[in-house]
Amino acid sequence: MRIITTILEMQKVADDLRQSGKSIGVVPTMGYLHEGHISLIRIAREHSDAVIVTLFVNPMQFGPTEDYKKYPRDFERDKKLTETVGTDILFVPSKEEMYPGGNLTVVDVEKITNVLEGNFRPTHFRGVTTVVVKLFNITKPHIVVFGQKDAQQAIVVQKLVKDLDFDIKIFIGPTVREPDGLAMSSRNVYLSSTERKDSTVLYQSIRLAQQLINDGERNSSIIISEMSKLITSKPSAKIDYISITDASSLEDLAVLRPNDSILILLAVRFGTTRLIDNILLTI
Ligand code: AMP
Repeated sequence: MRIITTILEMQKVADDLRQSGKSIGVVPTMGYLHEGHISLIRIAREHSDAVIVTLFVNPMQFGPTEDYKKYPRDFERDKKLTETVGTDILFVPSKEEMYPGGNLTVVDVEKITNVLEGNFRPTHFRGVTTVVVKLFNITKPHIVVFGQKDAQQAIVVQKLVKDLDFDIKIFIGPTVREPDGLAMSSRNVYLSSTERKDSTVLYQSIRLAQQLINDGERNSSIIISEMSKLITSKPSAKIDYISITDASSLEDLAVLRPNDSILILLAVRFGTTRLIDNILLTI
């Protein structure tokens, strides 16, 4: 596995791969990798000749009071893990390499970035979409793999690719969970043992919603209220939002109708750790 730290070298290697007829698959990550990331690398491996994993904790997508500085990092472990699953190139730029100063350009997707996560993290998606476009221009992918775990991010990136005519196919890999249902996340290490136990309520609430829908409930506010009751039964849990939306417009659905593609999304804080989860459903 080759490790590349500069934009120029990465672009040259990507050009060479393309010239030799190889397809490029990219998995963007912020590192501190877990089985969720690994599953995306496997998808990239399956659909491309050369797999590039990018590892960059992107300061631009963190708000001023968020956890950029303390975000977990372990380069040696990430290096071993990526190599084991057949990554060809690990692209690990520094903050200075990616943002040398003087940047006046940002990429902004409107409307669908103002709700849900965007409502609680106002500058987050602008940071994500800007770095994603930079990574597209640096790694020159044919395919890029994102995770369903960050459902709104996946929708925003797909819209960006469509609106700006990037000749890139986006794959969305399913959410990988711990045996007790908690979605894997680099941020799970922040949880105290009590918070970790309480955090299983996120997936339990999703299962409860699924059960209610299977039993015929179609009123979103009733489903949300039942989820909310379950979550707040855990003393350490504070809900930021629970929403039931259309899976592409992210507009709230008051009533669920047959053939609707539905996304149930939630963000809950356990102490100072903020976790998100979601499920995609059709009824
Ligand atoms: P991150 O390193 O958290 O920025 O995540 C990098 C990519 O991995 C994003 O596309 C995430 O959606 C995806 N991802 C994170 N956690 C999971 C998970 N538990 N299952 C599947 N994909 C995930």
